[in-house]
Amino acid sequence: MNVIWARSVAILVSLIAIAAGLYAAAGAITGLLFLSVSLLLLLSYYLFQINRLWRVLDAPAYGEIPSALGLWGEVYYRLHRLVKRWRTQVLSVEQQHTRFIQAIQASPYGVLMLDDADQIEWCNDVAEQHFGLNAKRDVRQRITHLIRRPEFVHYLTRERYDEPLVMRDMGEHKRNITSVQILPYGENRKLVLTQDITKVENTEAMRRDFVANVSHELKTPLTVLTGFLETVRDLPVSEEDRNRYIELMLVQSMRMQHIVEDLLALAKLESDAQPPCHERVNVGALMAHLVHDAEALSQDRHEIRSEIDPGVTVRGAEGELLSALGNLVSNAVRYTPEGGRIAIRMTYTDGHAVFSVSDTGLGIAPEHIPRLTERFYRVDRSRSRDTGGTGLGLAIVKHVLSRHHADLRVTSEVGRGSTFRIVFPVDRSGYEADTSRHAA
Ligand code: ADP
Repeated sequence: MNVIWARSVAILVSLIAIAAGLYAAAGAITGLLFLSVSLLLLLSYYLFQINRLWRVLDAPAYGEIPSALGLWGEVYYRLHRLVKRWRTQVLSVEQQHTRFIQAIQASPYGVLMLDDADQIEWCNDVAEQHFGLNAKRDVRQRITHLIRRPEFVHYLTRERYDEPLVMRDMGEHKRNITSVQILPYGENRKLVLTQDITKVENTEAMRRDFVANVSHELKTPLTVLTGFLETVRDLPVSEEDRNRYIELMLVQSMRMQHIVEDLLALAKLESDAQPPCHERVNVGALMAHLVHDAEALSQDRHEIRSEIDPGVTVRGAEGELLSALGNLVSNAVRYTPEGGRIAIRMTYTDGHAVFSVSDTGLGIAPEHIPRLTERFYRVDRSRSRDTGGTGLGLAIVKHVLSRHHADLRVTSEVGRGSTFRIVFPVDRSGYEADTSRHAA
C-alpha cells in the first residue's frame, strides 16, 4: 500500500474511532454530527488542495511549488522534485543548443537551414552576409523568393548537389565570389553551406595570368633566337653577319636568363622562412655597394649623389635588402635620361630608418603607381626591355619589404622624376650616436 492510501485510511480510521467514542459517550447524534462535520472539513481541505495543485500544474514553475502539511506536503514535494529535474534537463538542452549555435556562428562558413518547403528555418551571420539576408525578417520565407538568381534556383530545384555552385558578384559590394553547397538531410530538409572563395579564385586567376605572362615574356626572345639560328643554319652568311647574329642571340639569351633569375628570386622569397629580425645589416657597406653599382650602370651619364647618416642601423637579411634596394637604384639609372641627377639616401626619421632613391627621370603617371609592384607590369614597355628590365624588379622589392614589414612609398611626376622611399619599421630601425663602431 502506498503512502497516500496508508495515510488516508489512517485519517478515516481515526475519525471513525473518535466518532464511535463520542457515540458511546454522548449519544448517536453527537457521534454522527462529529463524523459528518469532520468528513466535510476533510473534503473541503482536499478540494482546496486539488484546486492549488490544478493551478500549479497549469504552469509549473520551479520555486513556486506550494508547501503543505501531511499528505499534500508529500504530493507537493514530489512535484517539486519533478519540476527541478525537468528544469535541469531543459537548462542542459538550452546550454547545448546555445553552444551549438555559437559554434556555427564562429564558423567562417555560411550555414542556412531550409525546411521541407524550402523555407528558411535558421541561418548564421555569415550566410546572412553572403546572401544579403536578414535572419529575423526573412525566417519562414521561401528561399527562392529572396535569392532569385536563376543559377541558384536551378541548382536548388535540380536536386543534384554533388558539386558546389559558384556564384559571382555576391555580397555587399557585389564583388565577392561565393561557393554554395546544398546538403539534403532529415525529411526533405536542406542544409545550405556557403563559403567566400574570392581570394582563392583571384589567386587562381593570378596564377593563370602569371603563367601566361611568363610564357609571353620568354616567347619573344625565344622566337628571335630561333629565327637567327635558322638563318645561320639555312643561309650562307658572311663571317661579319654571323658574328653580329651571335651578339644579338647572346642579348636575347641573357634576357631570358635575367627573367628566369628574377623568377627564381621571387620563388625563393615566397618559400623562404622570415628574414632574421636581430641580424644587423652593415648599412655603410650596403650603401657603398649601391652607389658603386649605380655608377657602374650609369657610366658617367648621370650625376649621382649619396647622403648617408652613419648612425642609422637596420635589422634584416642583408642579401635580400641589397637586391631590393639595388632594384630601385638600377631603375633610377635606367629610367633617367642622360644628364639627369640621382640621389641615394639613408636617413633616420621619427624612429624609422628611411632609404630613398630620387631621380630627375621620366616620372610615372599617378594611375600606374598602385600597379608598379605587379609582376611584369611596365609603364614604358620598350624602355624597360631596351634597358634589360624584366618587369619583375619592383615585385621582388615588394616581397622583400613585406618580409621586413617595411613600406614602399612612391612619389612621382611625369617628366620631372620619381622618389622611391622605403620606410623600415621601428623594431628594425635604430640609431647609434657613436658612429666610430659603425662602418660608414
Ligand atoms: P622593369 O624591369 O621593367 O624595370 P620594375 O618592376 O623594376 O620592372 O618596374 C616596373 C615599371 O615601373 C618599369 O617598367 C617602369 O615603367 C616603371 N619604373 C620603375 N622605376 C621607375 C623610375 N625610377 N622612373 C620611371 N619609371 C619607373
